[in-house]
Amino acid sequence: MLIVMKLDSPKEHLDKVLSKAESNNCKPHIIYGTTKIAIGLTGETRTLSLDDFMTMDSVLDAMRISKNYKLVSREVKDETIIKINNKIIGDGVLQIIAGPCSVESKSQLFDIAGELKEMGITFFRAGAYKPRSSPYAFQGLKEKGLELLAEVKNEFGMSIVTEAKDTDTLNQVGEVADIIQIGARNMQNFSLLERVGELNKPVFLKRGLASTIEDLLMSAEYIVSKGNFNVILCERGIRTFETATRNTLDLNAIPVIKQQSHLPVFVDPSHGIGMWDKVTPMAMAAVAAGAHGLMIEVHNRPDEALSDGFQSLTPKNFKQLLNKVKPIAEAVNKQFDINC
Ligand code: PEP
Ligand code: MN
Repeated sequence: MLIVMKLDSPKEHLDKVLSKAESNNCKPHIIYGTTKIAIGLTGETRTLSLDDFMTMDSVLDAMRISKNYKLVSREVKDETIIKINNKIIGDGVLQIIAGPCSVESKSQLFDIAGELKEMGITFFRAGAYKPRSSPYAFQGLKEKGLELLAEVKNEFGMSIVTEAKDTDTLNQVGEVADIIQIGARNMQNFSLLERVGELNKPVFLKRGLASTIEDLLMSAEYIVSKGNFNVILCERGIRTFETATRNTLDLNAIPVIKQQSHLPVFVDPSHGIGMWDKVTPMAMAAVAAGAHGLMIEVHNRPDEALSDGFQSLTPKNFKQLLNKVKPIAEAVNKQFDINC
């Protein structure tokens, strides 16, 4: 159930609504918008009637949300805008997250971060914990990798996006990450989702390999229902019968998610197509389709990369990608503050 209240509702009016919900064993989630306050109620809402709320002071509207996901739904809020270290994610801004698939060494990270910083990139990605399909593949530098990411943050002042693989290491990851990535293989790890929902850190939630858009939104609902509204969704390609590419990048997801949810949506064309020379056209297409941002894998020596080298762009090729994306961002009225 959703209760809509005036933005300037006095505290006593708000408190009355909250206590009515709580006395009926429902959990209220207060969401401040730009023009109104929305209160999402979860739990046993069936015993409550809309009229009970409609007659209360400062209440503008009360409605039932029929979808399986509620708090992430657009009915609750117009748009989520996330501020991270003076940068904005969402709204009319196109943000870029770039960096290697994995943390491999200090010199690798510093070389790549230095080049990206010069291009104006402020969000640096690299995995310290790598959930790999094969147990014999490189699993990441783990704690050492987090230490190196902390050094990048200190040296270059970039915001760090890195993956949390499990609940055991989540807090360690949260100490270094400005944005905690939940990978495709963990999209339905509900214990992990609940735990990141309890943290006060933005979450980058990647769509599962065989998950529907609704599954993705329901996974986001797990995080948001625990109180963390700063969730960024990411389309990164799904498994289909097509074998010519690593995955099938589902660009349909962008306008569909934007219609259904207030959360920002990014696209990762690197994993989506899995071939470095085809990442740029898919990045351009994603921006044209309305993505709020891109996640791109960049490596200084793709041939020697310990993971995903075949889909990683060199800094030089990445710069070309930015130059091609820029006019498209302008065409769709997105602010793009990268000096490429
Ligand atoms: C990654 O970002 O390097 C990664 C492992 O992505 P995904 O979870 O989408 O496969
Ligand atoms: Mn990767």
